[in-house]
Amino acid sequence: MPDPRPRVVISRCIEFAACRYNGAMVKSDTVLRLMPYVEFLPVCMEADMGLGIPRDPVRIVRKDGADRLVQPSTGRDLTDTALRFTREHLANLSDVDGFLLKGRSPSCGIKDVRVYPPGEGKAVLTGRSSGMFAREVLNAFPDLAIEDETRLLNGRIADHFLTRIFTHARFRGCLERGTPKALMDFHARHKLLLMGYNQSAMRRLGRISASSAPLEERLQQYSMDLHQALRRPPNCRSWNNAMMHAMGYFSGKLEPQEKQHFLRSLEWFVEGKVPLSAPLLMLRSWALRYEEEYLLQQVLFEPYPAEFMGLLGTDACSGRDLWEVAR
Ligand code: SF4
Repeated sequence: MPDPRPRVVISRCIEFAACRYNGAMVKSDTVLRLMPYVEFLPVCMEADMGLGIPRDPVRIVRKDGADRLVQPSTGRDLTDTALRFTREHLANLSDVDGFLLKGRSPSCGIKDVRVYPPGEGKAVLTGRSSGMFAREVLNAFPDLAIEDETRLLNGRIADHFLTRIFTHARFRGCLERGTPKALMDFHARHKLLLMGYNQSAMRRLGRISASSAPLEERLQQYSMDLHQALRRPPNCRSWNNAMMHAMGYFSGKLEPQEKQHFLRSLEWFVEGKVPLSAPLLMLRSWALRYEEEYLLQQVLFEPYPAEFMGLLGTDACSGRDLWEVAR
């Protein structure tokens, strides 16, 4: 049974319909490239709650500490309608692996949404404010990957997002199979990827997959811990651990110069001179040459479709936290 495609809720104005307030559509090459691999579930809160296309713009207005969704031209307060629509829509979703929402929109923006005072005053930008639809998504799905289309232009953010949605989809496949073997196989395939993300979570997940508890209980616990393990992106030290662990499979088989070259490529990766794909490709070539089946099945080498490989550029170890505000 092939792995299911990730199911991702997307703001409909991104490449699916010209439904923005001004009748425009948002272009995104990443979304166009992902279409063959991802099952997108488009939604447009503003159009679907009956505001029409085109329509007068709406904005977030903060009044007495509470945020309201307001249409200044008509003076309508649309908050209750928006919340009713959103909560019902989200409650009817099933098997969702992530969200890709339109940045900075008063409805869909996950951060950097302008918040206005009542009346004619100027907007403030706190960085943390999200749109009316997006804040419900963030509350209802704290463990899922949620990004906006502009942030996906950054390779580190795109790599983390794609890794999460494709891994969640693969785990849904494991749940559909619903056997102890499916869980063991899933864990075996993801071991190095999980080691790269979070070594202690990888061990905990290993214990869950091999425990003698009832399967239903194990799958539920594994699912929760897997979501947690993938919440934060990996750091350089844990990537290095995972790759050193993989190199251990070839100890005694490699020439000293080959080992030295590999270790130098890890240093270059940490120093931001080569992307993660450089040491990974070396490991994969050795796995092919020595027919190391365990390594060949590792999703670490291809956590998402190969055409997106190389997203994690040379700034993977820059240490800058790109998720501090978004989640
Ligand atoms: S940002 Fe959201 S609400 Fe606004 S047009 Fe796009 S999908 Fe619709």
